[in-house]
Amino acid sequence: MRSFGSDTRMPTLAVVLDLIRERTTVSRVELAEATGLTQATMTHAVRKLMALGFVHEVGTARSNRGTPRRLLEIQPEACYMVGIQFDRYSAVGVVVDLAGRIVAQREMPGAGERDPGAVIPEFAEHVQALLEDAAVPRDDVRGIGLATYGPQDRDAGVLLTPQPSPAWQGYPLATALAEATGLPVAIENDATAAGIGVQALGTASSSFAVVFMSGGIGSGVIIDGHPYRGATSNGLELGHISVDARGERCGCGNRGCLDTIAGPMALADLASRDPALTSRLGLGHDPLTDFTRIGRAAMSGDAEAAELIGASAQTLAVATVTLVNLFDVGRVVLAGNAFAEVGPVYRDAVQGVLDESVFMRHVHSVRVELADNVSHAPAVGGAMVVLRNLLESPNIEHRAAVRG
Ligand SMILES: [Zn+2]
Repeated sequence: MRSFGSDTRMPTLAVVLDLIRERTTVSRVELAEATGLTQATMTHAVRKLMALGFVHEVGTARSNRGTPRRLLEIQPEACYMVGIQFDRYSAVGVVVDLAGRIVAQREMPGAGERDPGAVIPEFAEHVQALLEDAAVPRDDVRGIGLATYGPQDRDAGVLLTPQPSPAWQGYPLATALAEATGLPVAIENDATAAGIGVQALGTASSSFAVVFMSGGIGSGVIIDGHPYRGATSNGLELGHISVDARGERCGCGNRGCLDTIAGPMALADLASRDPALTSRLGLGHDPLTDFTRIGRAAMSGDAEAAELIGASAQTLAVATVTLVNLFDVGRVVLAGNAFAEVGPVYRDAVQGVLDESVFMRHVHSVRVELADNVSHAPAVGGAMVVLRNLLESPNIEHRAAVRG
């Protein structure tokens, strides 16, 4: 059964829609049973989703008592959302339909060292190209979800960090991209978006943790179908959990942060101190490209590369034990483009350490897996955030075009 938390009296339409997406076809009675809500409440929620054109009836199934139950299904082409996940080193853009399926995708350049004034117009061009690739009516596009690093002010749509350059601090990111594209823009923590993306792409249970790695490391937790947000949506910064209390001071203020020891930037930096390795693997690009090359070499038997990756995976695993011990989840999913090639090494290392070290391992097992579509899941999550915000808005009828 899915609960909604003590402070939520009404089911969010997002959760009902998630359930319909997961089950493919489902009756109102089954939805009420799965959520523990009354049938009247569920009928009301379904009526709203049908009025929006998001859900339709597709026939009937016989119930135990012989009364036929009308089955509901999502209308995938009812609307589309754009998702972009970016950091300094890479960016991924997708267009997804209401069922969470990717209808267009493209790799894009990351922010680099450039100011947002240069990056935003480029993102706008990519959005235009993505929508052309997807060939969907622009009126059916509900907005853009920008999934990126923090700390951020999610409500204001601004980053609260001078990374990668001072011009980004407090820059009106969401407003500027909205003006450049004519579409509403929301921002989201990239690791939280990864969790939402994993959920949308299919097989997710309603509660799980996600470990995200792109240019940096982060994490997210989905509890009963909802992302855990903390006070300001800036929690679960796995990359800034200390794995060495006496380690070097990190830019965040903490000591011995996971990201500074095991993240792609740390590995690229370590490798750069070894001229033979640098030359053998053709390193010296941006840290994410170098990290990918080190990972590829590790998987093809380069001993030094394997040592670097092995140490990184072990340290990431130790931090993941902390994450699991805090949230008592039964499933950990790895997502983000740093895991695109070397993901299986990290998955196996994290699984091994969790099996030995997690506090509740005698109570339940914890399964570690790679996300389906591991590089794109965070961008898909960004897109689904647009839908989630729309469904959670109190005046949804005014914000979404009501269809007959
Ligand atoms: Zn830190």
